[in-house]
Amino acid sequence: MQQNHRPLGVYMHIPYCPAKCRYCDFFSRPGSRSVPQEYCGALLLELRGLPRRPDTLYFGGGTPALLSPAQVSALIEAANPLPGAEITLEANPDTVNAELLKEFCAAGVTRISFGVQSADNEQLRRLGRLHTAAAAAQALEWAVRAGFEEICGDIMLALPGYTTGEFDRTLSLLKNGGCTHISAYLLKIEPGTAFYKNPPADLPDADAAADFYLYAVRRLEEEGYPQYEISNFARPEHRGRHNLLYWDCQDYLGIGPAAHSCMEGVRRFWPAGPGAVDAFIAGTLTEEAEGVCNAEDYLMLRLRLRDGLDLTQYAERFGGQFTSAQFAFVRHCVSAGYAEFDGRVLRLTPEGLIVQNGILAELLPAE
Ligand code: SF4
Repeated sequence: MQQNHRPLGVYMHIPYCPAKCRYCDFFSRPGSRSVPQEYCGALLLELRGLPRRPDTLYFGGGTPALLSPAQVSALIEAANPLPGAEITLEANPDTVNAELLKEFCAAGVTRISFGVQSADNEQLRRLGRLHTAAAAAQALEWAVRAGFEEICGDIMLALPGYTTGEFDRTLSLLKNGGCTHISAYLLKIEPGTAFYKNPPADLPDADAAADFYLYAVRRLEEEGYPQYEISNFARPEHRGRHNLLYWDCQDYLGIGPAAHSCMEGVRRFWPAGPGAVDAFIAGTLTEEAEGVCNAEDYLMLRLRLRDGLDLTQYAERFGGQFTSAQFAFVRHCVSAGYAEFDGRVLRLTPEGLIVQNGILAELLPAE
C-alpha cells in the first residue's frame, strides 16, 4: 500500500431475495429469482463516479448471489478495484451450485459469505430459510472446490428453543466446510418482521442469550476462530477487510437503496421503502445527509473491536479525551472483568461487549 493511501470500501446493495426470512428487516424484494439488468445499469452509472480505486468491494443484500456471473463481472470491472482487493459476495446455500460458484470466482469474487444460521432443519424452517443443513454443507464444499480461499458462514444465536448442542452442530458444519471466517449474531426481533407480528415460542431470555453468546465466543476461540469484533471471528489473517473500514471510520461508499456512505467524515444514505428500487433504477432516488462522523462514532465503533480504542488515535483523529471520572470508570470496568487497559489502549472483554451500551454511556464525550 502506498504511503498516505486512504483506503476506500464500496458497498453495493442488491435488494432482491427469493423469499422473506421471518426475522429479516433488511431492505429486499422477496419473490425474486434474478436481478433485473436495469438495476445493474443503475449501479454501473453510480460506479462511474467513484473518487478513487477501491480496496474492497462488497455485494450485500438481499441475496447478491441472484446476480449472474456476467453482471458481477461487469460491476467489478466498472469499480476497477486495486490489485489484491477483497471482493465479497453474500450468498444463500439454496441459490448457488458448483458451476455458479466457479463462475463467481472467475469473475473476480475473492470472498464468499453464506447465511447458514443453523444446522437444525426444523430451526431453519422456523426462520423461513429455504435451505437445509445438508444444502449448506454442499454449498461450502462447492465453494472450496471453486477455489475460494475466503469462505464465511453466519450463525444465529439464542434462537427459539436454543441449546449449546445446536450451536456446536452449526459450528462443526462451518468448520468442516472450510470456513475461514464466522459471524455469530444474537437473534433480535425487529419491528416490521414476521417474527415481530408473531413472536416464536420458547425464545431464550436476555440472561440465557448472554450465556449463549459467551459460550459461542469460547467455543469459536477453542476451534481456532478468535474474536475480533463483537459478532465476528476469524482464522488468523482472515478478518473481513471491508467491515474493518467501517469500524475504523475510514471511507466507504454505499450504492443502492438502503446503502450508507461515510466519505471524509460526512455520512449519507440512500432512502429505502416502497418505490425506492424503481426510483433508483429511474435515476430519481437521491442520497440524503446523515450528519458527520465524530469522536462519539469513533469511540463506539472502536470499542466493538477486540483491538480496542487507542487513546492516542482517539485524540489525534477526533480530539477525544477521557475525563478523570471516565478514567476512574475504566479502572472499575477492568476490576469487574469488563475491560483491559494498558494505559493507552482500552479493550472490552466478551463480558464487557455484552454490557457495551452501559459502558459507552459512561465513556461518550460530553456534549
Ligand atoms: S435474511 Fe437475507 S435471504 Fe433472508 S430475506 Fe433477509 S436479506 Fe433475504
